Amino acid sequence: MHRWSELFIPTLREAPADAEVASHKFLVRAGYIRQLAAGIYSFLFLGNRSFNKIVAIVRQEMDKIGQEFFLPVLHPREIWEASGRWSLMGENLFRLKDRKGADMCLGMTEEEVMTEIARKELRSYKQLPQIWYQIATKFRDEPRPKAGLLRVRQFMMKDAYSFDIDAAALDVSYKKHYDTYCRIFDRCGLKYMVVEADSGAMGGKESHEFMVRTPAGEDQIVSCDGCNYAANLEKATSKLEGVEDLRPEGDGKPLEVHTPGQKTIEDVARFLGVSPKNKIKTLALMGEEKDGKTGKTKLRAIVVLTRGDHQLNEAKLNGMVAQATRPMDEGEIKALFKSPAGYLGPIGIEWAKDLKKDALPVLLVDKALEGRSNLIAGANKEDYHLKNLTPGKDFHPTAYADLRAVTAGEGCRNCGNALRIDTAVEIGHIFKLGDRYTEKMGARVLDKNGKEVTPIMGSYGIGIERILTAAVEQGNDENGFWLPPSIAPFEIVVSPTNVKDESLLSVAQDIGQRLGAAGFDVILDDRDERPGVKFKDADLVGIPFRITVGKKVTEGTVEVVLRSTREVHDVTIASIVEYFQGALRAKA
Ligand SMILES: [Zn+2]
Repeated sequence: MHRWSELFIPTLREAPADAEVASHKFLVRAGYIRQLAAGIYSFLFLGNRSFNKIVAIVRQEMDKIGQEFFLPVLHPREIWEASGRWSLMGENLFRLKDRKGADMCLGMTEEEVMTEIARKELRSYKQLPQIWYQIATKFRDEPRPKAGLLRVRQFMMKDAYSFDIDAAALDVSYKKHYDTYCRIFDRCGLKYMVVEADSGAMGGKESHEFMVRTPAGEDQIVSCDGCNYAANLEKATSKLEGVEDLRPEGDGKPLEVHTPGQKTIEDVARFLGVSPKNKIKTLALMGEEKDGKTGKTKLRAIVVLTRGDHQLNEAKLNGMVAQATRPMDEGEIKALFKSPAGYLGPIGIEWAKDLKKDALPVLLVDKALEGRSNLIAGANKEDYHLKNLTPGKDFHPTAYADLRAVTAGEGCRNCGNALRIDTAVEIGHIFKLGDRYTEKMGARVLDKNGKEVTPIMGSYGIGIERILTAAVEQGNDENGFWLPPSIAPFEIVVSPTNVKDESLLSVAQDIGQRLGAAGFDVILDDRDERPGVKFKDADLVGIPFRITVGKKVTEGTVEVVLRSTREVHDVTIASIVEYFQGALRAKA
């Protein structure tokens, strides 16, 4: 049994001045963590106990489906060049040189190292499937570390990789991880949801994120209460209500109309007496691509058209064009459109026919405009707009794509119910990578017919700190937080109200010892402090149950306080072990 008086638990009354989210404030105040530098934290005694409990749960569940490895954090440049990510990862990758001047980096993920092992060692379909995982430190040179453990530069991840002979086998490995992740997060006591996700810089096709709803989160998730549809905003779609197209005017050809001083979508719609839904919004952007070898930035005009009342989702666009974009400056707008901003449209410009092949400006049209007719857009001429514009007839998009951001209240694509949007924090992410890494790095195995094939991969991550922070965000009030018992540093704190009263202290010690012997994780608050001070600390530090050993001892009872609801139960000292066996172990 641990005794508080002998431990280092530096609780604070005040949170750090820059702390905005609950987990940051309380993990520092409760003495779990201390900052060493921006985005780099030390875990002290309580924090490390909780951390180790999370790791143990993750390991127990992962051991049921995979094999644990331990990989280096220090990587040679060559393997990242082989996968093509040495330049792709940009400034997020921590880079350094060894004493001989060779380029190295600190691993932020381990696809390269795992694929290198697979490339050298796997020879036959008979060796597949393989699921390899590790629990280790990762680094990421985050531009703006903040929010305590939510956005950090050094962190612990469980990362797993599967190697399979074909897509059907990958489905099996993927499902195993999906189910395992559900078991892990259930055991960690989190209220989470599984959402469809974008695979971003990882490449690949299918992907799911495990998310915990909290105002502290940096992701936005779209979900439906009517069915189980849920997706990251970067990926979400919705069902749109039909829009009535305008009738053609005149001979049906593009028709110039004078719109003096009318620049915004709303102004023009009002001026012409139409709905913004009949208008095209023209977004003028520049795609920037850094050449890995020369370091020079290549620019390409990317113009996006959406319905007048819709918003562009930048993540969808970046996924589509595989590069970063920024708004065009005035000069760039003039050069392409020959018109001031406010009157831009797709007519009179030669657009690229192929996104990848030719260097002409790219015209991407949101799917909500596909099949529409007689729309209104800028005429590329000051104070003028064009009526009667029909995509595919009057102008030819490089491609149609789903580029718009879903908004709350739109209909679910499955059941039509109104969608909701919440912020959330990501605690796990699973990807079907396909052959992106195995192909590039040259991993091959022989199939049943003796033919060489490329194995396909899945990649699966869990952020250990994220589980802790999500749990704190999920369970806190003005006085502190409470963790689910499975990941709390202690399950029960036993607090005698006065340690100078020897009979109270000896009852408290006896209770602690009996609970400890029964397998509960107990801390005895034997500090010579006023009860108020001890209760304040107990409320702060995340322990889900408190036993107050006070006056009622003379009647043979103590008080059990459930931290989350503050419910108080009188429990007889004789039955205290049975009480906790019911309260804490019954569900397990
Ligand atoms: Zn639905």
